[in-house]
Amino acid sequence: MDFQLSEEERIFKQMVHDFADRRIAPLVDVWEKSDVSVIDYGDIIAEYRDLGLLGITLPERYGGSGLPAIYAVLAMEELARYSTMASGLVMETSFGPIRAVEQFGTEEQKDRFIPPTCRGEKFMAVAMTEPGAGSALTDLTTRAVLKGDHYLVNGQKRFISGGGHSHWYMVYVRMSEQKGHKGIGGIVVEKDTAGLTFGKQEQFMGLHGMASCDLIFEDCLIPRENLIIPEGGFAKLMQAFDVERCGNATQSLGIAWGALEAAKKYSQERIAFGKPICEFQAVQFLLADMAMKVEAARLLIYRAAVNAGKGLPSVFESSVAKCFANEMAKEVTDMALQVFGGYGYSKEYPIERMLRDSRGWPVAGGTVQMQRINIAGAMLGRRFNQR
Ligand SMILES: Cc1cc2nc3c(=O)[nH]c(=O)nc-3n(C[C@H](O)[C@H](O)[C@H](O)COP(=O)(O)OP(=O)(O)OC[C@H]3O[C@@H](n4cnc5c(N)ncnc54)[C@H](O)[C@@H]3O)c2cc1C
Repeated sequence: MDFQLSEEERIFKQMVHDFADRRIAPLVDVWEKSDVSVIDYGDIIAEYRDLGLLGITLPERYGGSGLPAIYAVLAMEELARYSTMASGLVMETSFGPIRAVEQFGTEEQKDRFIPPTCRGEKFMAVAMTEPGAGSALTDLTTRAVLKGDHYLVNGQKRFISGGGHSHWYMVYVRMSEQKGHKGIGGIVVEKDTAGLTFGKQEQFMGLHGMASCDLIFEDCLIPRENLIIPEGGFAKLMQAFDVERCGNATQSLGIAWGALEAAKKYSQERIAFGKPICEFQAVQFLLADMAMKVEAARLLIYRAAVNAGKGLPSVFESSVAKCFANEMAKEVTDMALQVFGGYGYSKEYPIERMLRDSRGWPVAGGTVQMQRINIAGAMLGRRFNQR
């Protein structure tokens, strides 16, 4: 066991660190305060591509970097300390539904979907949640019925990150009358498909600038070759989703680390009773508690990612990491706000945004309650029917 990053990992992390300081830091306020509800990444996508930040975990033969998951975690952590909008591009292209294509798609599908992702031309979003199926995902009712060479898709998805902006959607669909997980498969729907419309942009308390909306499918005809996971492959969809949890957990880690760094700096600058507030033990204890929590989450995430290597993580390790990191980030950003006093509560400082942003991740990608169900199931070697 070695708790040090390798030389290559250290150099890579430093490269992303410098990029984040130089390019992301000045954009955060622009993104947060912009009147536009969904940010435009613009030219920065090309910079990500040139630095090898798109498709870090995707195979080299399709234009990715072919690196183990830990590299994507390191990159996300560095970017998310400023903004999870910035790390989102790494998450989508290294931990998103494109990994289901990479793991389970045909050669033709990999050739079609992965290279444009690595070039930053097209991104894939995941469309699982429905108005009547969130945690109870296997209640989903969006239907895909085979008609000749096409599937006829009807239904509605909710809270889809990237909705209306991503070019492709990995849509979880019911493919027969089979109830529960058995009838579910995964099909890619293109953004400009006739019959696909997008609902209004969600107004979330945090994660401002992130596209999110309903997807409405009305008699959409989807070519047969877009089917990635046939009916009965729900376990594969979930396996590919285990890796998404590492990305989600790293969003929380990055936010909390950013809050800790900001609090450390502020505590040495802010004067009260004639001295920097870091000289008060109560403030030191806040910083120490924040550091313990951030470090613990980091180790759990690194473990899940390192053990995943170039493959997929275990459900236990990814769920433990996600659940812990999600809850940790809420606590740490709250403590950071306390260190900042009144300024922490002000929109002039970044902490209140970090606190709001931290609140999204314990819901997105499976709630912390559902992670505990995964963890207990993996520990006890059983699946507990929630019905
Ligand atoms: C920021 C954000 C981004 C998102 N991005 C996407 C996306 O890109 N694609 C997508 O498909 N979805 C996305 N979602 C949706 C997200 O996956 C769902 O909101 C989540 O799975 C919970 O579903 P729900 O909102 O219907 O809550 P519900 O399932 O109604 O749950 C409500 C509450 O009940 C609890 N609960 C439910 N069942 C149980 C149980 N058996 N045991 C214990 N507690 C239980 C839940 O934990 C929760 O606290 C996103 C959500 C957010 C907030």
